[in-house]
Amino acid sequence: MKDETKVLHAGYTPKNTEPRVVPIVQSTTYVFDNTEEVAAVFDDPTKALIYSRFANPTVMAVEEKIAALEGGVGAMCTSSGQAANLLAILNIAQAGDSIISTAEIYGGTVNLFSYTFKKLGIECIFVDKNSTDEEISAQFKPNTKAVFGETIANPALTVFDIERFAKLAHAHGVPLIVDSTFATPILCKPFEWGADIVTHSTTKYMDGHAVQGGGVIVDSGNFDWSNGNFPELVEPDESYHGISYVETYGKMAYIIKARMQLMRDFGVYPAAHSAFLLNLGLETLAVRMPRYCENAMVVAKYLEANEKVESVRYPGLPGDEDYELCQKYLNGHASGVISFVIKGGKAAAMRFMNSLKLASNEVHVADIRTCVLHPASETHRQLTDEQLVAAGIDAGMVRFSVGLENIDDILDDLKQAFEQV
Ligand SMILES: *Cc1c(COP(=O)(O)O)cnc(C)c1O
Repeated sequence: MKDETKVLHAGYTPKNTEPRVVPIVQSTTYVFDNTEEVAAVFDDPTKALIYSRFANPTVMAVEEKIAALEGGVGAMCTSSGQAANLLAILNIAQAGDSIISTAEIYGGTVNLFSYTFKKLGIECIFVDKNSTDEEISAQFKPNTKAVFGETIANPALTVFDIERFAKLAHAHGVPLIVDSTFATPILCKPFEWGADIVTHSTTKYMDGHAVQGGGVIVDSGNFDWSNGNFPELVEPDESYHGISYVETYGKMAYIIKARMQLMRDFGVYPAAHSAFLLNLGLETLAVRMPRYCENAMVVAKYLEANEKVESVRYPGLPGDEDYELCQKYLNGHASGVISFVIKGGKAAAMRFMNSLKLASNEVHVADIRTCVLHPASETHRQLTDEQLVAAGIDAGMVRFSVGLENIDDILDDLKQAFEQV
């Protein structure tokens, strides 16, 4: 099946007289005929559902759909994008380990990696995505467990050279984890470029309608966990009656361990109703993504020609620093998010934003409605000045998330707001 078909049909195939739409299974628990049946499921939890802290049929239908879209062997939904990145790393790194991440990533992930991971004893080494192979290779240590980057960085809007970083990670025996939130599997499939694990904040384009938060981890099934660097996946798990994930589950070792061990212990699993809403968003993802890109390209060109604008960042624009990477990985389609710097710094940015009538001020991006955000004073205010620079954020930067309204209405709103600056 192609993507347009998968978004509608993957993950759920109703049989004779069953509901056409993925049903909301609003039950925390499941019934068994006898204790032996329950015992069998505890021996191998992949055989049936036990409890809603780590498995639910509505959520699992969505997991299967997203795995199909990414071309992975399995997926696990989480209650937020933050939870997805947290578990994606904790599944393979522990106290005493390190990870390497590009500096151009989401502010919430910078906090998670820099501060909370430090408390857990995991060091994150940040590298500039434009560093040479030699410079990046020099950052690997014997305890390095993963390399991390974002396909289209939020909000820096740089494009990650997935193939290059996958080669570097693999040369050092570790997986590449890619947060592909802004791209979605419609614009880019990181596994085709060598990524091993993909994460998403489904809160953004996948949901698309700003109705519920969520995240997902997808496993390509391609990484060789038995290469000596990941004993936790190979050696018996004491907390699961001595199971070896690699031996028992083969290509699904990583994603099954994430569910059986980490979801069991952390319990950041979405509710059935959230998955139902996410599924509705996913059903139109393949039609929505090209339209966001189309509208955004018009807006990016308008901004580029505007004399009140100092610079525009949209990787689809010819002349953008990452234009070539955008052609390679995204076929030139850079999603709906644009960032630009208004002349006059923070004050001008705030005046412009307060003058917008159609576009709403929201702490959100990738909404179906056009929305706008000032990273330096809002989402990224916890970052130090140096971290802001490293994340590619200027005080006059506006992050503009182009929605699916008629493009003329979006442009009219921009024009009248610029007149106020
Ligand atoms: C929003 C976002 C996250 C965090 O997701 P939540 O659903 O808000 O927890 C992680 N990565 C990227 C790239 C994001 O845009």
